[in-house]
Amino acid sequence: MKGLEFAIVRYGSIWNDPAWNLAVPNPASASRTKVESTLAEYPASFILIKHPQIGYILYDVGDYPSGEDGVPRSTFWKEYFPVQMVREDYVDQALPRNGVPLSDIACIILSHMHYDHAGGIKFFPGTRAAENVYVPKADFEAACLATLAEDGERDTDSPYWRSVVTTKGITYRFLEQDVELFPGVHVFLLAGHTPAVGALLLECESGNYLFPNDACSSRQNYGPPAKPTAIMHDSLAYQKSAAKLRQIEQQYHARLIFSHDLDEDRSYQHLPVFYR
Ligand SMILES: [Zn+2]
Repeated sequence: MKGLEFAIVRYGSIWNDPAWNLAVPNPASASRTKVESTLAEYPASFILIKHPQIGYILYDVGDYPSGEDGVPRSTFWKEYFPVQMVREDYVDQALPRNGVPLSDIACIILSHMHYDHAGGIKFFPGTRAAENVYVPKADFEAACLATLAEDGERDTDSPYWRSVVTTKGITYRFLEQDVELFPGVHVFLLAGHTPAVGALLLECESGNYLFPNDACSSRQNYGPPAKPTAIMHDSLAYQKSAAKLRQIEQQYHARLIFSHDLDEDRSYQHLPVFYR
């Protein structure tokens, strides 16, 4: 579609044991009875879309700076998933620095409610975008169950955080099926990582781009064969979703852009560069 563009906004990295992202990445064996695990770097990003009719659309909003709203990060996440992020790269500063004030965002599509994709929603109450936040319904339901039934988030080991899910002043619009939300902007619902992750497909003039997001967050996970992660809601659905992604990739001759893949990310261009 003419005039449909996007930029990858890299806002930092998450460091964690590779075993969270890929099942049995470094197995001990008969000849290697003891193996060590080493913290590894995983890029974190969100996508800024420029649409010829709608204006600016955000696909995910990234993390929120720890403690800035008075809610400390849980000890689990501080210990096992330390972040490497500088303040000016969070969405509220990264976009204005590149000429896009938050007030210029027309709407937001959240792939799912995990903190590293949805946490930045805390910057948006009072903006136009806050009136138009699309999210997979099944994922939002899981987020509510995970966060509202427990006693706060101080020690949670869930990637759904109460302070994110309960952000006031956000109007959610729930996605219950695959949809072409705007001309050239498709969202496909994929179960596995959570009950539903909204994968994005953009039909740009130079070609089509498919963002599997955490439905399959790296080339290694994608395969073939698709390999599971340790953070998993439904492993059978995950395999079906990988097959569905492959079918969409072929149908649209799409290039894949992964959410947490350092090797792939090194080959991407980032904001201020737009793919068109
Ligand atoms: Zn996730």
